[in-house]
Amino acid sequence: MRRTLIPDLVLDAHGARSGVGVTIEDGRILKVGLATEGEHLSGRALAPGFVNDHSHAFQRGLRGAVERIDPARPHDDFWTWRERMYALAEGLTPDSIRRSSRRCYEEMLSAGYTSVTEFHYVHHRPDGTSYRDPNALAKAVAVAAEDAGIRLLLLPVAYARDGLARFRDTSVQSFLHRVEALREWAERRPLVEVGVAAHSVRAVPLGWLEEIGTYARREDLPLHIHADEQEREIEECLSEHGVRPVELLVQAGFLGPDTTVVHATHADARELDLLAEHGASVCACPTTEGNLGDGFLPAEAILARGIRLSVGSDSHARIDPFEELREIETNARRLSGRRNVLLAESETSPTPYLLRAGWGDTGLKKGDPADLIEINLSHPALADVEAENLPPALVFGSGSQVVVGTRVDAQNVCAPDDTGG
Ligand SMILES: [Zn+2]
Repeated sequence: MRRTLIPDLVLDAHGARSGVGVTIEDGRILKVGLATEGEHLSGRALAPGFVNDHSHAFQRGLRGAVERIDPARPHDDFWTWRERMYALAEGLTPDSIRRSSRRCYEEMLSAGYTSVTEFHYVHHRPDGTSYRDPNALAKAVAVAAEDAGIRLLLLPVAYARDGLARFRDTSVQSFLHRVEALREWAERRPLVEVGVAAHSVRAVPLGWLEEIGTYARREDLPLHIHADEQEREIEECLSEHGVRPVELLVQAGFLGPDTTVVHATHADARELDLLAEHGASVCACPTTEGNLGDGFLPAEAILARGIRLSVGSDSHARIDPFEELREIETNARRLSGRRNVLLAESETSPTPYLLRAGWGDTGLKKGDPADLIEINLSHPALADVEAENLPPALVFGSGSQVVVGTRVDAQNVCAPDDTGG
């Protein structure tokens, strides 16, 4: 069915236009252009949905529960948080991971994310033995995404050592065998795509990184890995391999245009040069990095090198795409003592750069999936904001509460009534 949506404003990274309709058919955008005939969305702006490029959906179960210290261990940091997270992961079942993932994905949709990259590493029974279906937990997560109606890039994550027994595979071959089976299963599921990931240079040895990198390239798959989130991880990599994490990824042949390095918080200049040379991307997760005390994204250096940037809500301490984008720029301001820091070439505001990072694109255009969000222009956060100032007002002066409708694949998955808007 073909329909044309005519909101008060259609938003792109640079501004907002009126008198524009978005025609959608078979789940795709057929046309964005001047229109008078169609369904008028009064008091609304229409924008692309956000891409949440890094998620561990089950970790939403820690929300609020980890914001106090254990008096027996007054020094609380990333590593003590991780033990709390392991305890949660230890208790997951296929049913419970499906329920908690669905809740997380529904919150994402209501906040304006229309697709999510799930970095999934809880694979086996708590004792490390396989479920009868070795992909039972990954499939439970995929079905949760389908139940919620969010687009999913599912990344089965290789984990070789440390962590919990249920994270680990016994060999890289058995891991890749599971990836193959999962890809075959997902072929008939229109909202689900499967890529591949390695957890980190801490959890995965060099030989595995080489095999996984080769496999991803041969199969043309998105390839992700955590790197440089914490100083300790870099020290351990230096003592084991004599090089820093991104340098090790280069040695392993892991970096390429389809590789995304998650965090890169403590990446040094040489590592950032290597990411740029290999065309790899960085996924920043500012609200989680703040919550865990990771540090600051080297955002200015990433921008200067032309490294592609995306964002993720990672541990889901908070789910709000506008807040992730805002933190990237406000952290850069705190670090530099300047304002309007992250300016792409020939731009005078950081807003377009930030929105492109959030959308993975510049705006709505013909051929894109019809993954759209509706913004309530009469929300108190946006009242009296001029149309030309709407994009920066969203990034710097509002939050996910202004999102009152979400469509994925042209289907209404989160209507105004669901959000109280
Ligand atoms: Zn992560």
